[in-house]
Amino acid sequence: MKPKQSIIHLPVYQPGKPVEEVKRELGLKDVIKLASNENPFGCSEQAKVAIQNEIASSSIYPDSFSAALTSAVAGHLGVERNQLIFGAGSDEVILMLARAYISPGDETIMADETFPQYKHNSEIEGAVIIEVPLKDGTHDLDAMLAKVTERTKIIWICNPNNPTGTIVRQDELIAFLRKVPSSVIVALDEAYYEFVTDAAYPDSVALIQQFNNVIVLRTFSKIYGLAALRVGYGVGHADLIHYVNQVREPFNTTRFGQAAAAAAIGDQIFMQSCKDRNSEGRSYLCEAFDRLSLPYFEPHGNFVLVDTGLPSKQVFDALLRKGIIARARWTYYPTHLRITVGSMEQNEKFIQALEEVLEEAAVLG
Ligand SMILES: *Cc1c(COP(=O)(O)O)cnc(C)c1O
Repeated sequence: MKPKQSIIHLPVYQPGKPVEEVKRELGLKDVIKLASNENPFGCSEQAKVAIQNEIASSSIYPDSFSAALTSAVAGHLGVERNQLIFGAGSDEVILMLARAYISPGDETIMADETFPQYKHNSEIEGAVIIEVPLKDGTHDLDAMLAKVTERTKIIWICNPNNPTGTIVRQDELIAFLRKVPSSVIVALDEAYYEFVTDAAYPDSVALIQQFNNVIVLRTFSKIYGLAALRVGYGVGHADLIHYVNQVREPFNTTRFGQAAAAAAIGDQIFMQSCKDRNSEGRSYLCEAFDRLSLPYFEPHGNFVLVDTGLPSKQVFDALLRKGIIARARWTYYPTHLRITVGSMEQNEKFIQALEEVLEEAAVLG
């Protein structure tokens, strides 16, 4: 038995450590996970009711076309229903996009470092991966444009970028899109769209009316707090979406996910309160990092990539022993931690633990 050549070297995805595992391994009672950019405030109460209402229909397949959810999101965004595709998280929309558009030998361009799923799924399809280093933690659009050839199929832009949290601005993005050949798809991953408060952030859904080759990816996993239910979507020109739909599995989103997501997008009051509390927490963390003289990239999502000045693994392990799960894993950022903005209580506990870790290291150092 031999798997296909393109997957032999692929790593298995390594998720953030689960809370229960850390509690068990380290014998801790209280553990805070700030590793996976999950919503510390849970999800909308209306989404919970919607999930409960579906339990009685558990034996019935979900609606393959997610009709009710499609209407809810189309209404919310002001787009046509045939401009939307839903996936088991936006992870699956990334997978479907690669599956529909990439053939072996095609080229695909992305930042380095960025969200790993663009590379992962493109490699499975046999693509040639062109990685363009970030400039000051931000996408270098000119350098990415310079890599376009007649074999280029998809350019991926993660905005805000994971793990750095930086954004590409509306003016830069428009100038870029004007120069990208219309045959090349530009995938704008906006998993953290709802957290952005900077006025220079693009209005990407308006841009899809002008640029047929743009697909915007969003998710219910982050601000809407429905990560467990796996719902994300793509929005773009109907023709582009049509081909993605052709490779979609028949029942790729669940009854629970569809119902909860439709209720969640209807509860913008909950969304706004999460956005406000995130902004507050994000500012709190940045002020603390300033006070501790720790550099960080300007954060626009619900996480901050901060430079602790010490090997990431050392700080990660020391925080873990204090019951805080952070994320540390990046090739170019060996002394950085990515920390999710939590509730204020969690943020304060994290900063206190970090200060202790830094002091202990200074004493030993
Ligand atoms: C979390 C995340 C996603 C997708 O999450 P899903 O749960 O699959 O919707 C996509 N892109 C980025 C950059 C993310 O951080």
